[in-house]
Amino acid sequence: LPIAVVCIGMAGSGKTTFMQRINSHLHTLHHASPSTTAPPYVLNLDPAVRSVPFESNIDIRDSVNYKEVMKQYNLGPNGGILTSLNLFSTKVDQVMGILEKRCLPQPTAQQQQPAEPQLLPSHILLDTPGQIEVFVWSASGSILLSSLASSFPTVLAYIIDTPRTLENTSTFMSNMLYAISILYKTKLPMILVFNKTDVKDESEAVEWMRDFESFQAALRQDEVREGEGGCGGGYMGSLLNSMSLVLEEFYNHLSVVGVSSMTGAGVEEFFVAVEAKREEFEKDYRPELEKRR
Ligand code: GDP
Ligand code: MG
Repeated sequence: LPIAVVCIGMAGSGKTTFMQRINSHLHTLHHASPSTTAPPYVLNLDPAVRSVPFESNIDIRDSVNYKEVMKQYNLGPNGGILTSLNLFSTKVDQVMGILEKRCLPQPTAQQQQPAEPQLLPSHILLDTPGQIEVFVWSASGSILLSSLASSFPTVLAYIIDTPRTLENTSTFMSNMLYAISILYKTKLPMILVFNKTDVKDESEAVEWMRDFESFQAALRQDEVREGEGGCGGGYMGSLLNSMSLVLEEFYNHLSVVGVSSMTGAGVEEFFVAVEAKREEFEKDYRPELEKRR
């Protein structure tokens, strides 16, 4: 079965650039061995993007016009994106129909000679709207994700702007908490993709995740620098201490990779993580999803 990779992340984290990178990586594999690997199947779910730097098989912009939706319903940008996604999600059956036709083995009835082995895409790639909350916290986003996950193994690639998230400890913490909330909401396996490693690598983030004391030390430094003179005292300190257990549990669950969508560094490691998550999906997530259905 092909595996669906859903790129999510804060606006500007580099989802679209990352999509372009992994898409071209898979195309390169296809060109190197056209008889054994098919190109990926690509969906763009961002209605507001001006130009998509990769070729997509299904593009939300072909079925809804974001500008028109804003005008017609008198909405601002966020409302426009949400409404566009809602309109698109009413077609989820059609979309899934196309996906299943293109990406699942089709029964070849009444054929004299054995058919050519069907070459199916190994990956389905999805790009999502810049505003993460629109996709993750909307009913239509949930509908799209759960339909996808009921037909294909599905993983989330949570894209992080590494230089930005490492600016200070509280930005890092907020980003991790956001990722946790998405993990619990979607109940899908997740890969943390520390992007833009050409600007700043992910080592500091990884250290903070592996060793909570190093994170607390960084936190104290930030407090001193910001003139609060505190050292994990007060409610922030105790909040963080209690959260350390939650975070540890969370980090144990995740695959972490550093990539540069700009240079392509780390892309192979990303696909190794995808394969690991595919197994996890089959073992842990699929039974859980079936129980809930
Ligand atoms: P999206 O809103 O998450 O889809 O983000 P985009 O893919 O549009 O990227 C936002 C900005 O980050 C753009 O200016 C990209 O050129 C830049 N960007 C994305 N990936 C990288 C990267 O790996 N390295 C660097 N230096 N910049 C990147
Ligand atoms: Mg984008």
